[in-house]
Amino acid sequence: MPITPFLEVPKTDRYWLCNAQVPRSLLAAGLGRSASIAQSSLEVDRADLVLVDLEVNDGRLLSVRSPTANLETDLGEADLGDVPAIDVKSGLVWPCLVDMHTHLDKGHIWPRSPNIDGTFEQALAAVQSDSQQWWNAEDVYRRAEFGLKCSYAHGTQAIRTHLDAFDEQGEISFGVFRQLRQEWADRIQLQAVCLVSLDYFLTSKGEKLADLTAAYGGVLGGVTYMNAEIVQQIDRTFDLAKERELDLDFHTDESLNPDDRALRLVAEAAVRHEFPGRITCGHCCSLSVQSDREVEETIAAVKAAGISIVSLPMCNLYLQDRRQGQGSRRTPQYRGMTLLKELKAVGVKCAIASDNCRDPFHAYGDHDGLEVFTQSVKIGQLDQPIEDWPSAITQTPAEMMGLNGVGKIVEGGSADFVVFKARSFNELIARGQGDRVVIRRGKQIDTSLPDYAELDDLMGLVG
Ligand SMILES: [Zn+2]
Repeated sequence: MPITPFLEVPKTDRYWLCNAQVPRSLLAAGLGRSASIAQSSLEVDRADLVLVDLEVNDGRLLSVRSPTANLETDLGEADLGDVPAIDVKSGLVWPCLVDMHTHLDKGHIWPRSPNIDGTFEQALAAVQSDSQQWWNAEDVYRRAEFGLKCSYAHGTQAIRTHLDAFDEQGEISFGVFRQLRQEWADRIQLQAVCLVSLDYFLTSKGEKLADLTAAYGGVLGGVTYMNAEIVQQIDRTFDLAKERELDLDFHTDESLNPDDRALRLVAEAAVRHEFPGRITCGHCCSLSVQSDREVEETIAAVKAAGISIVSLPMCNLYLQDRRQGQGSRRTPQYRGMTLLKELKAVGVKCAIASDNCRDPFHAYGDHDGLEVFTQSVKIGQLDQPIEDWPSAITQTPAEMMGLNGVGKIVEGGSADFVVFKARSFNELIARGQGDRVVIRRGKQIDTSLPDYAELDDLMGLVG
């Protein structure tokens, strides 16, 4: 049974969304600053929210202004001309979401390849076996498309996915990616990153993969496992990226082993190579268990190298500090979220993202950027105050992906919004928001989610 959105947006090209509260950090500088937010009785978050009226015309945000109608005033009395208006009643309006670290190629294999003990090691093994058996183009396409349908319905406008790319899988998955990028171009901006362990780049196959990634307009990436050749592997990856003018996106230190220091090594390599492109490092969990001095030095190195960080809190929560053979008897004590506040405090760009959905690396998730945000706030205590953390799932990842004008509310920008009934961050985070309204290019979209049964045949659940 589809959930009914909490309001209906006018179907006309031009209309007003009145009495909307926009996160202050997501409103372009200068807009709505004069709004008298004291009209709202929701005092707690008001420093981080701005009450505005938003005028949409022909798929774009035409103007933002201070509300003309008091919350209790009939909108009919407001000076809106003949343009239809809808009262959002202090509901939050966000720009559409940006999910910059996902694995659409792995998504939704859980029913046929569950993680039997929930550990990282088992996740690797289960995915490897699943991919060898099943990952032809149709299988990858249908599961990835399912993920896109979920993302779109939840209000996401841009996604970066990593693609397992060993041997012939690279060609298959990048081919699917190209097709989906084309088919979804008017709904979701898609980027892909190749994913192998970095030792692969020391081989001739690694060079071919870098060519393939460049041919598909991708980003070069891989997992940094600590080993005797790690510096050489990182250097080679930088060389390959530089030669092809590719950006870089690494999985670094996804563990609670304090000796995992790849983030620092990537930062040092970036400086050594004078790397001109964008560099993102994901996970960086080991930073949460290292000494204060080590942390301070690594964060300084990351800052100096201009590296951006993406944290994947839901996946970390699932995998980190779960120990083989002890699952049912032991409660996890360390949760693996990297030091987002400390990184952001020195000016490092920090994003949050979904990572895996319903696969052996993360059994749950629904490609919902809002869930990523609400969970991250709770796991990382990104509240009291919330300040500009909404940027971490909107504007900041858009910048990290090189998407201009995306993930913020700006006059003249595309009218891509998520409208929540929640009137404060407290209400937003406390309740699920399944009745949210998603507006794309000014039009309200169908927010029905795809049925899991669509994938039953792929999962061997039919007949
Ligand atoms: Zn990942």
